[in-house]
Amino acid sequence: MIGGGPAGAVAAIRLARAGARVLLVEREAAPREKVCGEFLGPDAAGIMASLGLPLPALGAVPIREGRLASGRHDAAWALPFPAWSLPRAVLDEALLLAAADAGATVLRGRAVAAAAREAGCWSVRLSDGTVLRAPAVVLATGKHELRGHARRVPRGSVGLKLPLRLSAPLDAAVLLLPFAGGYAGLQPRAGGGANLCAAIHPGLSGAGAEARDGAALLARVSAGSALAAALLRGAGPLAGRPLAVAGIPYGFRHRDGAEAEPGLYRVGDQFAVVPSLAGDGIAMALAGGAAAAEAILAGQDPRAFHLGLERQLDRPMRWAGLIAGLMGAAPGALARIARAVPAVARLAAARTRLPGPAPRAA
Ligand SMILES: Cc1cc2nc3c(=O)[nH]c(=O)nc-3n(C[C@H](O)[C@H](O)[C@H](O)COP(=O)(O)OP(=O)(O)OC[C@H]3O[C@@H](n4cnc5c(N)ncnc54)[C@H](O)[C@@H]3O)c2cc1C
Repeated sequence: MIGGGPAGAVAAIRLARAGARVLLVEREAAPREKVCGEFLGPDAAGIMASLGLPLPALGAVPIREGRLASGRHDAAWALPFPAWSLPRAVLDEALLLAAADAGATVLRGRAVAAAAREAGCWSVRLSDGTVLRAPAVVLATGKHELRGHARRVPRGSVGLKLPLRLSAPLDAAVLLLPFAGGYAGLQPRAGGGANLCAAIHPGLSGAGAEARDGAALLARVSAGSALAAALLRGAGPLAGRPLAVAGIPYGFRHRDGAEAEPGLYRVGDQFAVVPSLAGDGIAMALAGGAAAAEAILAGQDPRAFHLGLERQLDRPMRWAGLIAGLMGAAPGALARIARAVPAVARLAAARTRLPGPAPRAA
């Protein structure tokens, strides 16, 4: 497993519980924040519960309502499914500990520098020079490319995250807050405060200021709607400057060409990148990791695995793309429709979830 986010960790848990020899390499030595809205729907919750890690037991706070505001328009609707908010440092750490408990060797604080196929086997070189060999590799490096196996993607968006202290507590709602040049999500955070997360289109002039300075980000989001301005008035960052990641290729989907790599299974953001806050990237990563473990145990080749995962993720990818596109092109009209017919907002939210029942317990 290269990468210990949700995708890599779930693959490691499932493989180790089935008795396979598993090594997971995660470049961060300790739990840390990631750029993420931290919204988790029933599909993510179902997979976590199937692993023996129910979200409420990890301290997740429930989210019951969706809200969309643009200019002076503001719509609210009851979510058609249960949802939660949980800091990524908590979620990712719980998964890595479960992988180690299941018997996987978890190497933290060392990165994979290169991976190459040699004599029918993968040869993986770590940042400290150690070379490991494995019959199969799960590529789960998320937003980060592994040299020689990078996704072929155009210029991407900038993702920002800023945990906040608000002057008044938020309801149990996830708020979608479009603004000129992007959109943000705001929801309560387990442990207090709120999580503000934004996706800024590439090429937006001055986008660097928002990444360097929390006040600039708050001003940009506040300018998008009266609701954002009211909620963010008096807000202060819980950390210093926003956490930032550049080049997020929203809409990317991996497709094997003639050069498909034998024994290399792509999962999570390395397989597909769903538009943030419109879809549920964590659920897709968890589902992909679980499916990769099953494919490896069944001896399914990566090309067939990738085709199956593509089918599973197609509907949420298309609906999230549509919602994110409308938030960019006509946010005011979208808020008016959601206010007049909340059933439309509920239907769209339901369509962004992974199809099918929650996976069975491992
Ligand atoms: C702005 C924004 C908001 C979002 N909001 C939400 C949301 O509210 N809900 C939701 O479900 N999804 C959200 N997402 C998407 C979600 O964050 C991702 O889809 C999810 O984290 C993908 O999981 P992953 O396991 O593929 O990758 P990651 O979570 O990125 O994990 C990859 C891991 O690999 C490690 N790594 C990288 N390179 C190496 C290497 N060479 N060697 C070893 N380790 C390596 C990294 O340290 C990292 O821990 C959001 C994304 C963005 C950008």
